[in-house]
Amino acid sequence: MASKTIHMKFYPWLKNPYKIIIKQHQNKKPHHAFLIKTIKGLGVFELIWHISKWLLCNAVNNTKYCNKCHSCKLMSSGNHPDWHQYMKNPSEIITIDHIREINEKIFKYPQQGKNKIIFLSDIQKLTESAINALLKNLEEPPEKTYFFLIDYSNLKVSSTLYSRCLIYKLFPPKEKNSLNWLNNQKLLNKTFNIISLRINQGSPISAKKFISDGLWEERKNLFIYFLKSIKDKNLLKILPILSVNNTLLKIDWICLLLFDAMQIYFNYKKKIINFDQLELIQFFSCNYNYLILDKSIQIWTKCRYTLSNIPVINNELLLIEQLLKWEKILSFIV
Ligand SMILES: [Zn+2]
Repeated sequence: MASKTIHMKFYPWLKNPYKIIIKQHQNKKPHHAFLIKTIKGLGVFELIWHISKWLLCNAVNNTKYCNKCHSCKLMSSGNHPDWHQYMKNPSEIITIDHIREINEKIFKYPQQGKNKIIFLSDIQKLTESAINALLKNLEEPPEKTYFFLIDYSNLKVSSTLYSRCLIYKLFPPKEKNSLNWLNNQKLLNKTFNIISLRINQGSPISAKKFISDGLWEERKNLFIYFLKSIKDKNLLKILPILSVNNTLLKIDWICLLLFDAMQIYFNYKKKIINFDQLELIQFFSCNYNYLILDKSIQIWTKCRYTLSNIPVINNELLLIEQLLKWEKILSFIV
């Protein structure tokens, strides 16, 4: 068997949530199903992994697992027979067959004698029949079985599912704390860190990735072209850069910029996201009223939706159409 050891990070902002959830077990009042609502990039997978390791450890010391017992070693090598993680790859959908498979596992006695963990890492990936089948398990859960479910969406999948779980909201850390962490990650300078953090909904891990994956540079480039195209009153000039890589992300960045323009328009300057792009933001907040800004955000949101949900489409044509429509709204062309 492979002897690879898994080193799972323990991010500083996860320490409290970890303790809160472990405390429930120490007080002998654990809920058998935990549904964590959160955003991506906060390390929720790591959180569940550490909690599971504690739940499976045979020699826990207060809130710590021992890291030495057989169970801890099995977890560290990724081979624990009572730890069942589903949706390891992002495109995986959970069907009723998966739930049947889960059923078979949970009604057996735990192989290592302690607990069993079922981890469903994104409930949006469950089909409706899978949810219904899962509900039965959650209604009459077998002993020593703990479910962890994660929901990244704002939309409620099923209120019955919610009612059978204990809901825990995992929020991004305070900006100050995230910045402290980012500043210790040997990245670019502080200005970049704050902007990257705000672009990524306050998620420190996503912000770090944003900088180290070169997205910061892509964004900078996009806005250089964007500013030029606005000065020339020809939005089609951003087409080459918009249509190549990360089109959806680039649309998000444009929308965030428009949100900033709205904020400035209403004189609310506290949490401007793109404060390195004031010239662009001011162009919009000074020349247009909120109705036009709002309309602009709407057409971009619609365009983004079409791009991400309708597969057989000529992306470039759609973007040309979108840019021309926007030129009209901005009165570049009459
Ligand atoms: Zn242990």
